[in-house]
Order: sequence, then C-alpha cells, then structure tokens
Amino acid sequence: MSAATADKQTDRVLSTLNADGSRRWLKPWLSRGRYLRRRRVVAYGLISVFTITPYLRIGGKPPILLDIPAREFTLFGTTFYPTDTLPLALMILSVFVSIFLLTAFFGRVWCGWACPQTVYMEFLYRPIERLFEGKPGRQRKLGAWRKPAKFAVFLVISMFLAHTFLAYFVGVDRLWLWVQSSPAQHPFAFLVMAATTGLMMFDFAFFREQTCLVACPYGRFQSVMLDRQSLIVTYDEQRGEPRGKITKSKKSKDVRLPVAAEARGDCVDCGLCVRTCPTGIDIREGLQMECIGCAQCIDACDDVMEKIGRKKGLIRYSSQAAVSGEPVKLLRPRVVIYPALLLGLLTGLVLVLAGRQPADITLLRGAGSPFVVLPDGNVSNQLHVKVRNRAAEAATFQVELIDVTNGQVVSSNNPFTVGSGEAHDAPMTIIVPRDVFKDGRRDIQLRIATEDNAFSTIRPYRLLGPWSSGISDAEQSHDP
Ligand code: SF4
Ligand code: SF4
Repeated sequence: MSAATADKQTDRVLSTLNADGSRRWLKPWLSRGRYLRRRRVVAYGLISVFTITPYLRIGGKPPILLDIPAREFTLFGTTFYPTDTLPLALMILSVFVSIFLLTAFFGRVWCGWACPQTVYMEFLYRPIERLFEGKPGRQRKLGAWRKPAKFAVFLVISMFLAHTFLAYFVGVDRLWLWVQSSPAQHPFAFLVMAATTGLMMFDFAFFREQTCLVACPYGRFQSVMLDRQSLIVTYDEQRGEPRGKITKSKKSKDVRLPVAAEARGDCVDCGLCVRTCPTGIDIREGLQMECIGCAQCIDACDDVMEKIGRKKGLIRYSSQAAVSGEPVKLLRPRVVIYPALLLGLLTGLVLVLAGRQPADITLLRGAGSPFVVLPDGNVSNQLHVKVRNRAAEAATFQVELIDVTNGQVVSSNNPFTVGSGEAHDAPMTIIVPRDVFKDGRRDIQLRIATEDNAFSTIRPYRLLGPWSSGISDAEQSHDP
C-alpha cells in the first residue's frame, strides 16, 4: 500500500459519513459492463423465483411454507415439525457451512450477486429512482412531482413484496382471502403486512447501504471466513500505482494517446470506481469490510482502461495472494475441511430424511397418581399416546399391549384417526395384573400401528406399580 493511500485510510472513518458527522448520501453512478449484464440476469431470475414460488405446488403443498402458529415448516414437499430437531439442525448447519465454503472460495459473492438487499436495491429501487430523478452525475432540473411519484411507486412495490413475503408464512390461498376482506377480520396479519411494507420503505428509501455497513453481521465475519487465496474484487496495486491523472495530447483529442508519465501506473485516478460503488468506498484502499463484492467498480474501471487503450482488469476478480505475486494455492485447509463437513452434514440429512417414519409417536405419562391399584387387584397407569401423522392421507392408528399376559389397553379412543399432517393426543389406561411388577416397575412394549399395517412400531414404556413389600397400596400409589 502506498504512503498516500495509507494516510487517506487513517483519515477515513465511514464512507457514508461527512467530516461534520452528517450522512453522506450515496448516488452511485451506473457502470455498464459484462458484470452488470450478468448480475441483471441473476437478479431478475431471483426476483422471479421469489414472487412465483408461493404459487407453485409440490405434492399439493407450496415449495416453501413456514407456518409459525402451527409450527410446521414445509420445504420442497417435505413438512417438518418441532419434533424434527435433527433434520432441522442438520439443514441449518449445512446452510452455515455452505456460506463459509462459498466465502472461502468466492469471497462475498452472496452479498454482491444474490442477497435480497443488493438485488432489490440495485435492480429494482435504484433503477426506479434513476427513472424519476435522472442519472447521478447528470441530473437535470427536476419537477417537484418526481420525488412524491418515486415514493408512491416505492410504496406500491414494497406492498407487493410484503404480500409476497407474507405468502411464505400463510400461503397464497389464505393471503388472497385476507386481501379480499376487511383488515378488521385479520388484524394481526394486516399489522405484519403493514410493518413489513414500512420496513421495506425504510430500508430501500432511506437506510439503503447502511444495512450492509452497520446492520448486517456478515461483513464483520468476512475477515475470518476469507483467506489470502479467496476470490474477491481487488485492485491490482502493483499495476495501478503510482496513480496519476491523465492529460490529453495537445495535438490530438484522442484519449488513446495520453501524455502520461512513463513511470506512472495504469490508474488515472478518475475516481469512477468510487463514484459507482454502492457503499461509497475506494477499492484502491484494499480489502474493506464495506465491500459487498458487487463488481461495479470492475465494470467502471474496465471501461476507463478500454478508453485509454490499456489492458482491462486493473480492478478484477482475483485473490490478495495473486495480486501480490504470491503463489496461488488451490488446496488449503478450509477448502478441504468445509466441503468434507458439508458432505457429512448432507449425507446425514439424506439418511435422516430417508429413515423418517410416516408417523411420530410420543408416549407421555398421565398426570396425577403414577398408578392406581384397582379393586380387583390389577394395577392401572395413565398414558398419553401422541401421534403426528406425516403421511399424505388420514390414517387410523391402534395401540396394543403385546408382552403382558392378561394386560390390556383401555380407551374410548382406540383405534383413532389422525388427518394428514395433524397431531392427535389419545389418553389411554394400561391395566396389568399386580404380580407383573418387580421393585415397583414393569417394562412393557406397546405396538402402535395403522389399520392397514403401512406403519407399525413397537415402543418400550415403563409401568409403575406396587412394590412387593408390606407398604399399603394407598401409600405406594403416591410413592412408587
Ligand atoms: S476506475 Fe480505474 S482508473 Fe479510475 S480511479 Fe478507479 S482504478 Fe483508477
Ligand atoms: S468496492 Fe467495488 S465490488 Fe466493492 S462494493 Fe464497491 S463497487 Fe462493489
């Protein structure tokens, strides 16, 4: 890093702060180029996926439905319940490790290419703003109506996006019913939608790049997730420095014939890479937390290099090691450990999903006395059989006691039917002869199966009963 650069860096606190502490509003210039074209394709593809997904169906269910009140999470045709802690944990861990892996290889490619904040800001709200207010740097005198009109369009888009966002939590069918009815009939949902719209307006009309700079923790983690071999947007200091302004030849207006000192580097200090940066930083100061890897400075600089007849790529996707002339190492601990970890997690997830039963069974001891000695000498235990039917159709379940002679399951609710995706709590009483207990307990086995035997499981359960001692039954029933 040059001494001048180092000095500048010491002075700088935040790229969006003026010297007097007020906010420096950024109006990044649009730089057309190959990366902008590619990012547009990605961004509009992602926006389409986001808006279309709630309307699609896989096995009769939306691909993504996060029903928080019912605590049911549907992902690509599979519904997860709160009891699915293992697959949910494996999925969340896989997402985290994927982010680490992606960052280790490609730096902040997520931020610059796929993060909703960047996608909506740069490819929806910012183009609309340019439409109403003109291109930054070339703004004409504007009619007073333009700003309110811009905010009106922002509001309509924010409302649409807020409704789409809500559809991921309630489904499009319920959302459509709500849209057609009065907010008084669904005040909570209306408040959520209004708050989401308000947050989007606040974010995209006012807070903007501050979300990346001060609210999002990802940038702060990047220094531990990146190494010197990670692919990032970087300025080739060896080629660019010492920088210097270009001057046109007095004999020719052709900028391809610059009168630039031989000793100067390729950077002509035009400042376009800074003016186009959506977070207002100067990439020539090295890797910074604020850089979201959007590649706009690459497009800006490539355009300048082309105009002055120099090779493109003064700013380019490269690694800190590569631009410093250090050897490029493809094989590093993190690019071996992260994929191995991810493979392990995904394998575990696939195995867990493949081994999932069509029903979840939970056995819970009944409240009150742990057991009762009945007048005929038998002993009863109260039990709750909770069944969650994961199958696509309703099923009828039956509970049987299979390993105690003369034992029985007594319930007015056995067998019982559970709808698809629903949970049912069936209270039961297990009655067994007194002499099956040893030391106040007896381990039994219960078979829970559907009528058609498509699902069948045997679950152990411990019955509590009297000790073979002189303690009275009344005393024992409270102190097994
Ligand atoms: S756009 Fe390129 S030439 Fe212009 S200041 Fe930035 S790095 Fe230098
Ligand atoms: S420095 Fe370049 S890549 Fe980084 S945020 Fe600014 S324009 Fe995007």
